Amino acid sequence: MKDVLLAWYSESKRSLPWRETTDPYAILVAEVMLQQTQVDRVVPHYLAWLERWPSAAALAAASPAEVIVAWQGLGYNRRAINLHRAAQHVAAHGWPDDLTELPGVGPYTAGAVGNFAFGRDVLPIDVNVRRIQERTGERFDSSCTQALFDLGATICLARIPRCGACPLADACPSRGSRYEPLRKQSRFEGSFRQRRAAALRAVAAGEQPTDGDALVALERDGLVVLEDGVASLPA
Ligand code: SF4
Repeated sequence: MKDVLLAWYSESKRSLPWRETTDPYAILVAEVMLQQTQVDRVVPHYLAWLERWPSAAALAAASPAEVIVAWQGLGYNRRAINLHRAAQHVAAHGWPDDLTELPGVGPYTAGAVGNFAFGRDVLPIDVNVRRIQERTGERFDSSCTQALFDLGATICLARIPRCGACPLADACPSRGSRYEPLRKQSRFEGSFRQRRAAALRAVAAGEQPTDGDALVALERDGLVVLEDGVASLPA
């Protein structure tokens, strides 16, 4: 299966800016942005981010407030603070052997950066990769990572896989199957996450939100500073 998959990938690979580099900083930025945000939305943010802060040292020298404002539109703002702290760690100490020592970097992100930037023989397993391995019964190696990402994003979809267009269909025991959604995605509308996002946007715009619970949660995550009941972005 591996050869068929890689042949398909060489013909059909998506052109994505973070695939044009092996710079660990650029790849870390992309992977953190991609953790909870869709590719289409990440691309313009990624390009603007790299233009403004082209290195870990450049990002480390920025203020948290600048970083939080630049992150707006990507969601899950805590990632911005963690990425900033990770850049400060790298600027001060270099890249750790164990990338999970960096704030906000779990095993998956560490695997992706290790593979794409440092050439490590590790297959980062996200939901797409796991799904394809389960459906095909195949254990792919690290050289298949990007191909699996693309197959999972465009062909082997979660609910209704496009088996008719799949390069692995001839050998796949799940060919033609349909799947129920595993869980409904929690609604953003009306959620506490939405309230936090609205409060942070307001603070970034120089306003004072009245949502105290949201402000307390934002302060806990290092996204705002509260002084005498007045909220501001961390300097
Ligand atoms: S044949 Fe269908 S289920 Fe199997 S890997 Fe391809 S798209 Fe997924």
